[in-house]
Amino acid sequence: MAKITDLDKPSEKKKKSSSKKKSLKEHIEDEDEENKIDTTHLYADNLNGDVYTETNANPKAKVHSTEWMKILHGDPVEINPSLGQGMKIMTVAEWTSRWKQNDRFPDCLACGSTNTKEHHFTQTWCRGKKKFESETICMDCHMWSWRSYVDPDFLTPEEFDKIRWEKMVKENEEARKLARAKKN
Ligand SMILES: [Zn+2]
Repeated sequence: MAKITDLDKPSEKKKKSSSKKKSLKEHIEDEDEENKIDTTHLYADNLNGDVYTETNANPKAKVHSTEWMKILHGDPVEINPSLGQGMKIMTVAEWTSRWKQNDRFPDCLACGSTNTKEHHFTQTWCRGKKKFESETICMDCHMWSWRSYVDPDFLTPEEFDKIRWEKMVKENEEARKLARAKKN
């Protein structure tokens, strides 16, 4: 009898603690949800310089530039694999239908319209320093707006590692020289 009671107790405990965990987990998820909203455009906050801009008749980013020329010439372009397959002659609106506006940079740099869609976006963070690129197409004037930014002292993770590695090699070399000098 005593054994059965003992067996029951831990399972009850387990249930209670798991329900507690769940509510805590939900709480954390709620916080995450709030943070997500706040950090969406963190890449463009508190910049230490100007955002570089360009307006172009053709995309500056290589992605989509071949298709863009086909669209201009009325040549068929590849149908998005999620929508079907094969090639099709498309209007600009049809071709860009799956692209979304960047609500941090909604305005066209050529005509001021906010009827824009982003086709290229990258952001790179390395030890708190940042870099980003954004390019949008205007659905009203069909001009492309380019924006890019890099922190003055930004290093890519690779550049940072290279500097750290070279410093280590140099320090090792100096330590070896000292060791040799002591020997002699
Ligand atoms: Zn425009």
